[in-house]
Amino acid sequence: MAGDILRNGYAMTVLGPVAPEALGPTLLHEHLLCDLRPLDQRGSPEPEVEITLANAFAVNYRPGAFRGNHRVQDVGLAGREAAAFVRAGGGAIVDVTTGGLAPDPEGLAAVSRASGVHAVLGAGWYTAPYLDADTLALDEGALEDGLLAQLTDGAWGTPIRCGLIGEIGCSWPLHPFERRCLHAAARVQGRTGAALTVHPGRDPAAPFEILRIVDAAGGDLSRTIIDHMDRTYFDEGEIVPLARTGCVVEFDFFCIETSNYWLGVADLPTDWMRLRAIRRLFEAGLGEQVAVSHDICTRSRLRANGGHGYAHLLENVVPLMRERGFSADEVDQLLVRTPRRLLTLPGRRQLTADSA
Ligand SMILES: [Zn+2]
Repeated sequence: MAGDILRNGYAMTVLGPVAPEALGPTLLHEHLLCDLRPLDQRGSPEPEVEITLANAFAVNYRPGAFRGNHRVQDVGLAGREAAAFVRAGGGAIVDVTTGGLAPDPEGLAAVSRASGVHAVLGAGWYTAPYLDADTLALDEGALEDGLLAQLTDGAWGTPIRCGLIGEIGCSWPLHPFERRCLHAAARVQGRTGAALTVHPGRDPAAPFEILRIVDAAGGDLSRTIIDHMDRTYFDEGEIVPLARTGCVVEFDFFCIETSNYWLGVADLPTDWMRLRAIRRLFEAGLGEQVAVSHDICTRSRLRANGGHGYAHLLENVVPLMRERGFSADEVDQLLVRTPRRLLTLPGRRQLTADSA
């Protein structure tokens, strides 16, 4: 039954398949609706932060220090934030909210209908610390079946289908669950051709280990995205060998321009430093293997709360790109053509052979 759903040459959004040409400028790594609070904070009766002009900077500077900032579940607000992206010329947003982070397919469908944005949901599970014991006990076969079902039948108890795999969560070192999940994800990618996006552990060796696992399990590196370059490598030259493996390298912290990394110690770059690293990849002939996004997952980064919102790349970074020597064609590659290639499902060819 899976074969008739993964239709050749379409992108799968939460409202159904669309022609890839309709996607337009696309953000490949965002959260429109998510709950990234640690498990021990959920269900707490303590009040959540109310963001005002007086504390907006403080919440943005120390996003993990304010209760509830990482719970973004207001569907009406998400629709208005997505509409601002559409008004800026945006076409599609990929919500990579996977199991453990409260994925909400019906909510995303409402956001899409309200804003006109094409919304694509990712399949799979996040890192082990966010998962319950029942999920952590799933074996590789169950994970593979689950991933395939999310892509072909519907996700999280709904008939709404995912349009890619991930973000698949990986820690460093890999938790046994994460290794099984990554292995299952690569196998499902091999069967379906869906793009795979992976949140790597924070060690510079982690992305290379992930790619070895994906490759050995039958995945397709040319359709595998390694997320979060911004906090994994602090010398832009280190990213070139990673891209030379054939994967897509993703700079997805655009507009996080702060010296304070809330999850550890990291020399976070500014947008200009990101563009310098991306320039270097283009000059090495690897420009078709670069993705860009904001990874919004806090209330404080939303426009309504004084943050930059989903339109920052289009409104502020594109002019910066042009000023720093990127051609219109290179901008189109980053924002339109690479996401379009990754979100276009290649069809049923391997699926029917494998699942008959
Ligand atoms: Zn991530």
